Amino acid sequence: MKVLITGGSRGIGAACVRRFCMRGDRVAFLYRCDTEAAEVLAAETGAIAIRADVSDAVQAEDAVARAVRELGGLDVLVNNAGISQIKLFTELTDGDWRHMMGVHLDGAFFMTRAAAKRMIAQQSGKIVNIGSMWGKTGASCEVHYSTAKAGLRGMTMALAKELGPSHITVNCVEPGVIDTAMNAELDDATRQELCEQTPLCRMGRAEEVAAAVCFLASEEASFITGQILGVDGGFAI
Ligand code: NDP
Repeated sequence: MKVLITGGSRGIGAACVRRFCMRGDRVAFLYRCDTEAAEVLAAETGAIAIRADVSDAVQAEDAVARAVRELGGLDVLVNNAGISQIKLFTELTDGDWRHMMGVHLDGAFFMTRAAAKRMIAQQSGKIVNIGSMWGKTGASCEVHYSTAKAGLRGMTMALAKELGPSHITVNCVEPGVIDTAMNAELDDATRQELCEQTPLCRMGRAEEVAAAVCFLASEEASFITGQILGVDGGFAI
């Protein structure tokens, strides 16, 4: 399969790049600024690294076109690129809000619109959005993040209905607390507290999220669409 993953330079996205490549798929991934990390991963896996900001409509559209050209088509899109910010709701600036919506919601919209046109034409495709358990439960001091991730749930379900007749599946993986750079700034006490709130008593690994993404993008999941799959150690039960 020909696979395009956003936010592939590190963390969950990089784990997805490695897993799809190990499966024998042809993979391209987007990153925003960390060219060094992207080049190292591309050299390690043979995946194609493309620099593009998903929150910019033109860059996203061009990146999809380039991926299609270089991969020779597109079967799978993984909308994984994301940012996080911990801040009191009343202190959020207009810029904080727009940046959060821009990366998560505009990004998924621009990428998916460009990819879906091609998938509809070929009457097949698989789209996997990376949400968050906070989009289900809500997180204090992350209202904008939780709002954006809840939006991805709606996008997943509505798109699954609209694209189903074109034989395209749309699903969403909602990770819990995963040990990536996104959580690097959490202090030890907070990490400990989050682990205690997780029934499996630990943080998850990026590879564990990538396994769920690969499953939903595989033929084994051919009759699964519009679903939200928590990979959170039971946190959001
Ligand atoms: P990381 O911070 O480790 O990686 C984020 C990735 O997204 C990087 O590759 C980064 O590229 C890329 N990125 C950020 N902004 C943009 C942009 N505007 N355009 C293109 N690429 C961009 O995050 P994680 O791997 O932890 O998270 C991946 C996804 O999983 C996110 O959507 C996140 O919200 C979600 N998630 C993560 C959880 C966790 O606990 N880690 C929990 C729940 C959900 P670059 O390096 O070039 O900046």
